[in-house]
Amino acid sequence: MYLALYRKYRPKKFNEIIGQDHIVKTLQNQIALDKVGHAYLFCGSRGTGKTSTAKIFARELNCTCEHKNTCKFCKEELSLDILEIDAASNNGVDEIRDLREKVKYPPVDGKYKVYIIDEVHMLSPSAFNALLKTLEEPPKHAIFILATTEVHKLPQTILSRCMRFDFKLVAIEELISHLKNILKKENIQFEEDAVELIARAGEGSVRDTLSIADRCISYADKLTRQSVIEILGETERQSLIALSDIILNGNVGDALIKLDELLKAGKSPAVLSKDLIYYYRDLLLINVIGEKSANMVMASAEDFNQMQKQATNQNYAKIVQAIELLSSVEAELRYSVQPRIVLESVIIRLFSQTNLLQRIEKLEKMIASGVTIEAQQVKQEIPVQTAQKAESKEEIPAVKLENSDRIIGELLAYLRDNKQMSLLMACRQISKAAVENNEIILYIKDKSAINMIKMQKNLDVLNEYFKSIHTAWQIKEFGDNSAANNIANKFKNRL
Ligand SMILES: [Zn+2]
Repeated sequence: MYLALYRKYRPKKFNEIIGQDHIVKTLQNQIALDKVGHAYLFCGSRGTGKTSTAKIFARELNCTCEHKNTCKFCKEELSLDILEIDAASNNGVDEIRDLREKVKYPPVDGKYKVYIIDEVHMLSPSAFNALLKTLEEPPKHAIFILATTEVHKLPQTILSRCMRFDFKLVAIEELISHLKNILKKENIQFEEDAVELIARAGEGSVRDTLSIADRCISYADKLTRQSVIEILGETERQSLIALSDIILNGNVGDALIKLDELLKAGKSPAVLSKDLIYYYRDLLLINVIGEKSANMVMASAEDFNQMQKQATNQNYAKIVQAIELLSSVEAELRYSVQPRIVLESVIIRLFSQTNLLQRIEKLEKMIASGVTIEAQQVKQEIPVQTAQKAESKEEIPAVKLENSDRIIGELLAYLRDNKQMSLLMACRQISKAAVENNEIILYIKDKSAINMIKMQKNLDVLNEYFKSIHTAWQIKEFGDNSAANNIANKFKNRL
């Protein structure tokens, strides 16, 4: 029987866990120093290793080996001391009730009785209450490991009793090298590009990456770029580059022809639009961060070069606009009976707006180069700091990107779950979230998004959310409004 890769290569030891070194090290230290807590909370996206880490931690806690790997736990034999509860099934009521009754009995084989509660956010309120009572006064021998993908759904009473560990998305390079190792062990031939595409599609999840690899392997003996693209149904990066090239440098007619070509090849307008948003997000990263963005952008070296050529300052305003326009029709694309027309109209709008920008830019250049006497006079009158002032308005402090992503991601998930679609749209414009003096500060550039967020009914929603996670918050505008307005403003100031 064929065993799925992610099952076969599920980590069994701490050193086999991919991409969570910070957590593994802390847990190992706690065991070594005998400073183990009573309740742990493992949170993070699916497939980042929460449950595997919990199981390994539980075994290591109980390991009684005199010689390495000889005890019951190391041999992964079943033990009554390690209990797994899936909160997703049956809301966990019976299991938690059972837990409460039996937790007082001491462990049989090892030192601790370890309860692993998976998807803990799915517990019903009564199950939560029951769990809470146990967490308040746990017997000395009991350890709880709660795992969840949706930490914002947990009551504060639970959060405050747990040692929290945030599992981050696994970096693309780690996914790539992990997948390559496995393919080599499995004697499967592969193209470098194919592995990269799979890892990228895995979006930071080891499990997803391996599942996709499984699908691709069952389709063809050898992993080729082409076969992966066919399986993923993803718009090939090259056609995105080509389409984007036309959008940024070409004319609207060619763009519509290229769009038609891609749609005829079987892309759905919604998928293509999503791919384009990601693509433009990558261009922004390249523009802002430069070479260092190579790890985050997840493109082959060759593609990266081509993308760099598009990610110029000159194109910045257009790129921002493309993201804004495409994001604004996201829902429409999904529910419209004529999604194709929606996407076409976006492309057309993009051109009519970028034309305007180009004209402003052109005028600006003319003025700057002193084409007319009037313009030259104006130029001398403008204080030099106009442009600089706008750029240094409010800098975002250096924040750990994964923390920022997590804060924003949890907020967006909450808004989505609570069907706050317009607020969700506005909050998507948040660039970064930083924690300063126990307060979450959301940095945002877009004026219209800020105005939207500042509407009382939206403030109420956000207040409620941040209250639930016990954090004060505020939004801060940074930079200037948008690159597009920046150009327009500069122009205005000169007149
Ligand atoms: Zn052992």
